[in-house]
Amino acid sequence: MTNWQEIEKKYYMNTFERVPLTIVKGKGPYVWGDEGKQYLDFVGGWAVTTLGHCHPAVTRALTEQANLLIQTSNQFYTVPQLQLAQLLVENSCLDRVFFGNSGAEANEGAVKLARRYGQLNLKGAYEVMSTFSSFHGRTLAMVAATGQPKFQQSYPPLPTGFVNVEFNNIEAIKSATTERTCAVMLEPIQGEGGVNFPDEGYLPAVRKWCDQKGILLILDEIQTGVGRTGTLFAYEQYGVEPDIMTLAKGLASGVPIGAILAKEKASVFAPGEHGSTFGGNPLACAAGYATVKFVIDNNIAGRVKEVGQYLIDGLEKMKPKFPSITDIRGRGLLVALEFNSDIAPALLTACLERGLLVNQLKPNTLRFIPPLIIGKKEVDEALGILDEALVSIAK
Ligand SMILES: *Cc1c(COP(=O)(O)O)cnc(C)c1O
Repeated sequence: MTNWQEIEKKYYMNTFERVPLTIVKGKGPYVWGDEGKQYLDFVGGWAVTTLGHCHPAVTRALTEQANLLIQTSNQFYTVPQLQLAQLLVENSCLDRVFFGNSGAEANEGAVKLARRYGQLNLKGAYEVMSTFSSFHGRTLAMVAATGQPKFQQSYPPLPTGFVNVEFNNIEAIKSATTERTCAVMLEPIQGEGGVNFPDEGYLPAVRKWCDQKGILLILDEIQTGVGRTGTLFAYEQYGVEPDIMTLAKGLASGVPIGAILAKEKASVFAPGEHGSTFGGNPLACAAGYATVKFVIDNNIAGRVKEVGQYLIDGLEKMKPKFPSITDIRGRGLLVALEFNSDIAPALLTACLERGLLVNQLKPNTLRFIPPLIIGKKEVDEALGILDEALVSIAK
């Protein structure tokens, strides 16, 4: 059998700390390694495989589209792009869409849009405020927006025009706002940075402040969007509407895509001011349309709310047995499990050996971001393995 992990060591840039598993196949919430073993996937491609692996609706849409038309260019109109745009607008508070190919690219576009808005409406204001422990992507500008030194320190000088302030602190935003500020950019719930929830009043207060100052609120729903937290978009749960929202991860169940959505007043790009060769291509948009349509038609968000609560309740029941558990936090199927010491790597390995894939968020924290189609049966299976794994590492 080919040792792909050796080939990776030799040929691939050494940038990912990979788990020693080569995945060759997936179906629903399960994947299979090249050694033939089956695993329950609670990583879900990093909150990406919304409908699970190779869902018939997505595979069918991709196959049909691949036989019909894969790519033209944005010089022409194409059908899946406009079907998905219409579906997203009709099911959100936003009015217009632009498609790119990834989350970082969507956020870059959102910042460009905000700067253009500042140029036109705010006397040239260009600064975008974002928060510490956020995550907005890996391009140079998004590294500047991402308020985590570990992503920033290798790449000076960072692009200017970004200010990082404390999350969940409205006063921090207020005191950092100047005549240069054109937008505040936030994840409604911080994903990569720790699954951090703001207080209920935070987003409404930010919304109010942005309105008062005439600046834009950009919500990065790349991780929280498309049903992940129990509503189609997380902003719905906080009673605020963003001026600009970005989507990516779960939007097409695993096919690369990103989207900028904006209110009419913030949709200020003029022809030629932004663009993309692949963005909005028929193949990705067909997968996106199949995904979002399925999520809406089958009330997947409502199911996620229920199944997510079942997962959190199950973890709470485990807590008395394992005093190393210090915190359980989550909403929908975005859940973090924190420990009093750095046991996440050992626990991840113990889960892997028992057929469960989990994500290490920090050395002391695991994150569960499974496909949104899982049910209580899969949650029970995961909890059972987790329990055994915790027992095994305690020995
Ligand atoms: C993953 C993520 C991004 C970056 O998306 P990429 O597709 O990796 O560029 C941006 N923002 C949030 C909130 C994310 O979770």
